[in-house]
Amino acid sequence: MAEVRNVIVIGGASAGYTAAIYLARAVLSPLVLAGENAGGQLMFTSEVENFPGFPKGIAGPELMAEMRAQAERFGAEIKNENVTKVDFAGEIKRVWVGETEYQAKAVVLALGAMSRMLGMGEERLLGRGVSTCAVCDAAFFKDKTAFVVGGGDAAMEDVLALARFTDKVTLIHRKGEFKASKIMQERIKEKNIPVLWETEVIGVAGENKLERIRIKDKAGEKELPADGLFLAIGHTPATDILKDQVELDSHGYLITKLTSNKTQMNQEIWLNDYPTQTSVIGVFGAGDMVDIRYRQAITAAGMGCMAALDAEKFLTGSISSW
Ligand code: NAP
Repeated sequence: MAEVRNVIVIGGASAGYTAAIYLARAVLSPLVLAGENAGGQLMFTSEVENFPGFPKGIAGPELMAEMRAQAERFGAEIKNENVTKVDFAGEIKRVWVGETEYQAKAVVLALGAMSRMLGMGEERLLGRGVSTCAVCDAAFFKDKTAFVVGGGDAAMEDVLALARFTDKVTLIHRKGEFKASKIMQERIKEKNIPVLWETEVIGVAGENKLERIRIKDKAGEKELPADGLFLAIGHTPATDILKDQVELDSHGYLITKLTSNKTQMNQEIWLNDYPTQTSVIGVFGAGDMVDIRYRQAITAAGMGCMAALDAEKFLTGSISSW
């Protein structure tokens, strides 16, 4: 029989590590199953300049290592293991890594979301010209030539973020019309942002950093000089192992009381319930797998803190930490 722990955190990045710091400091001895590629999206980010507390900036992998060390300092047990199956049906939650079973009274889910890639080899230049976060990286492209790929709200937002730093930003969209909301499209028009319609990015070139992109439209293929390529083509939440276990939305994002249409968020829930609880009692959710909107390291960390405080309250029946 597996030992029944207080709490298991699944996910080893901003949200999971922050949850682990809080749970460990609450003397709940969390087990963190951080995944074989622990660290999440920040592992592909060279410089993080917007995480409070680091006025000189910090490399993404270093920030993750610091968070992990902080959780370990207070007694969190962290394993770089991929969870393969969960069963949340009973009061005791069951979590498997291959044949090994772990059990706990509560679980914090913080598996994140992956930015979608175009699949033409651009990963190798992530953090070196290729970016999936304009809010994070736009400031590095002052007066530089940048392209944003996508036709949804995120692409519009990314273009507007870049346009504050450079007037050499162009939107590339594979169709002849945008999917984005009308209001966002209007803002793009007002700024006279050039758009390459019905165009695909089919390649990137550059040794140590992005130098050119290769595009294809009706007229054929050509290369364009480029300092930045921002991908805004959606995200895939890492919720595969959770299907049939907790409620997900139509895009696969984890639903919590904070994000559910069924729950009317009010002061009662905010004060006396568990805002980060999923559709299963004792299972809480945090970070990018819940968040279709902000997707920042700091918001994921904040949600990880909230989920940990909810789990603590659930486990101890105490509201002292509120
Ligand atoms: P999205 O709405 O799913 O849009 C993704 C865009 O990327 C689509 O235009 C899609 O093209 C394109 N795309 C997908 N795969 C592609 C590929 N392989 N190659 C080229 N283009 C590709 O995703 P999102 O913009 O990230 O937004 C996600 C959700 O967050 C939406 O509900 C959105 O409204 C919301 N959001 C809201 C705000 C805001 O309100 N301020 C900001 C950001 C996001 P097609 O058009 O051809 O499908």
